[in-house]
This record gives sequence, structure tokens and C-alpha cells, in this order.
Amino acid sequence: MMRKKKVAAVFGSVLLSASILTPAAAAPGNGNYAPGTPSEQHYSISGFIDHKELSKKLQQMERSSNGKVDVNVAGHSNQGREIYTARVGTGDKVVLIQSEIHGNEKTGTAALLKMLKQIGSNNSPEFRKLREELTIVAMPMINPDATELNRRGTDMSWSEVVDDFPQLEDASPSWNYYTYTNEYWDYASNPGFDMNRDFNPNLDYTPQPEDLPGSSAEPGWYITPEAQTVRDVYKGLQDEFGEVNTFIDLHHQGQYMIEGTNDEVTLSLSGVFVPHPDSEAGEKYSKYADSYNEEFSKQLSVAAYEALQSIGNSPYNNISLYQQNLDLPGTALGSFALNGSGTVLFEVTGQTQSFGQKKKGQLVKAVQTGVYGILNSLANDEVDEINPDNYDDIPLTER
Ligand SMILES: [Zn+2]
Repeated sequence: MMRKKKVAAVFGSVLLSASILTPAAAAPGNGNYAPGTPSEQHYSISGFIDHKELSKKLQQMERSSNGKVDVNVAGHSNQGREIYTARVGTGDKVVLIQSEIHGNEKTGTAALLKMLKQIGSNNSPEFRKLREELTIVAMPMINPDATELNRRGTDMSWSEVVDDFPQLEDASPSWNYYTYTNEYWDYASNPGFDMNRDFNPNLDYTPQPEDLPGSSAEPGWYITPEAQTVRDVYKGLQDEFGEVNTFIDLHHQGQYMIEGTNDEVTLSLSGVFVPHPDSEAGEKYSKYADSYNEEFSKQLSVAAYEALQSIGNSPYNNISLYQQNLDLPGTALGSFALNGSGTVLFEVTGQTQSFGQKKKGQLVKAVQTGVYGILNSLANDEVDEINPDNYDDIPLTER
């Protein structure tokens, strides 16, 4: 089939499996989950908000929270849409949480808005503690151009990149530049980037032609304004707090089973995105050996897992570990982990093109429960008492 060939050409030998790895829609197998062919299916996404609604909701929240939620414009997408930070809490530990780096992965944004509202208004001891101990900086919908197109990639052409970085005039476009067309979207006439490969652990990196086209196992270049914005927020928080204690990235993946069971995965978690700098495979990251803290990322992941398990017998118990042994320094998670943040990936089931808004309420609640598990364990210092080895007891995802 033509489509398979094209996909293979675009993504090379990269595993076609899940969200931070590759777009589910481009993975031929994922279409099988939908009854009938995709062209016969129309999945509604009207339950998810667009960028205009996000702007309105954040402004309302800032007004109604009596100053507890502070909303700012941190930067703009390539098409000029605002990218926001919403900050709540005054504690010394800073937690950065982002959503919708892939525009077809929308529950994280809904979860963040609910949580911001709750943390900004609830006066119970639990929520007061969160505000006192933590500074929570949410970046909902960081790739708004992709959100508008309900797709993974940004809305930017290579020539626009060269306009911004003339030194790249003779360079090959980066490997994560999409120009293909399939039944879901048309990057050929409207190209863009997987901005979740545009990060670089060297936060001061500027694009060099010899580093292109690069690959999934190499760092990115900060060529997209969206990744630059997140990086700038991260650096600003480092300056303000000394370090970004925790970074959480909210995604969606395909549909999977918990290994060895007939249980459908509700959510997969991961805390490891690059080989350990002290290992042979991670030797290239040796200059980050002192800052990298894999144990802490595992403890945070277990905190999320345990919070979900504590809900009685329900789909919220069907939590698996995301694919391990990855080497993804160009992801925000990989880059920020090397800079010393505890990092956790959330991958809920189903992307909009094959799943629409099915189970939206359940998936949003799963994200909230897991994130609150992390926030509470940080605020109460309970995270330090978690045995990081428990991370390896989280069941794997059947692949
Ligand atoms: Zn994703």
C-alpha cells in the first residue's frame, strides 16, 4: 500500500507504537481499532476546547481566583497564537506541567484547567498545603496551531525556519519535518514539525547546520517558536527557583492492553526517557550525570500510579508502564530530565483521529488523579519515602 510505504519513508526504522514515539494515525495498525475505514468514520471532538476558548477560560479563571491564579502570555506559536503560563501557589518547589504538545492529544488541557480552578479556589487543608508548598506552572495547549488543525505537528514550513535561522540555508530540513499526506491530514500543502523532538538538553543551544537533519536519538535544535517558548519558561523558572523540581508532560497514545491480561490500558506512565549518563549507552550524556535524577523520576511515577490504584476496582487501576529503554533527548522530557528535573510522562488511551472524545470524562479524571498523586506526595514530602524500585513493578504495556 502506498500509505505504508510513505510512512516507512518518513519515519524510517523508528518504532511505530505510541504517542511520544510516532503519530498513531500514521501507524497503519492503529486504523484497525476503528470499525470501518477512517473515511467512513467521523469522530466528534466538540467536547474539547479550542484556543479561543482556552484564552477566555484562563482570563475568567484569573479574575475569579482573586489573584491566586496568575495567567501570562509566555510566547506565540508560529501562526501567532498565544502560549500561556498559568501559575498557582507560592511554594519553593516548582512543578511545570504542559499539555497538548501534540494537537490531537487533548485531555491534558481539560485536566489542567480543572485542576487550576480547583487549586486556585479550594480552601481545604489539602489544597492550602499544595499552594503553600508548591508553585505550579501549567502550560496548557502549548502547540495551539496543531490544536486548531487537530493534528500532531506544528504549522510551519522549512523556509520559515530558514528565515529565522539564515545559517540553515543549505542544511537539510530536520528529520521531524512532516510533508506527507494521509487520510487524516495534509502536511504536503501545510507542513509542520513534531515539536516534541525540537528540545535540546543544552538550553542555550542555537541551530547549527551540521546538526541537521538529525535523528530521534539525537537532540533537537529549538527551531520552532513553540519549543523555544517552553524552553524560555523552563530557564526562567531555573533562574527563579534554582531548579525546576518536577516536569510533567501530558499525552495520548494508541489503544493497548496491560501485559498478560485482557484489561485495556487507561493510562501509561514513564519516568525514563534517556539512558542513564553513568551507563555505557548514556555516556554521551556524561556532562549531565550530576544533575540527572532517575530515582526521583521513578518515585514521582510511583506516586501517580499509587494514587490511581487507590481508587477502588475501576478502569483507573488499569495503568501500565510506557515503553522503556528509550533514547529521546529531543523530547521535552528527555532534555529536562538531563537538566535535573524529576520527569513524568502521562499517555492516556486514544488520539482524536481514531478515538474522538470517547471516554473523555474518565481519561481526564485519570490524568487529574495521577497528577494530584504527584503534587500531594511532593507537598507532603512523601515522595522521598517511595521506593524507586516499585517503578519496575508497574505492569508493562502489551505491544
Ligand atoms: Zn504525544
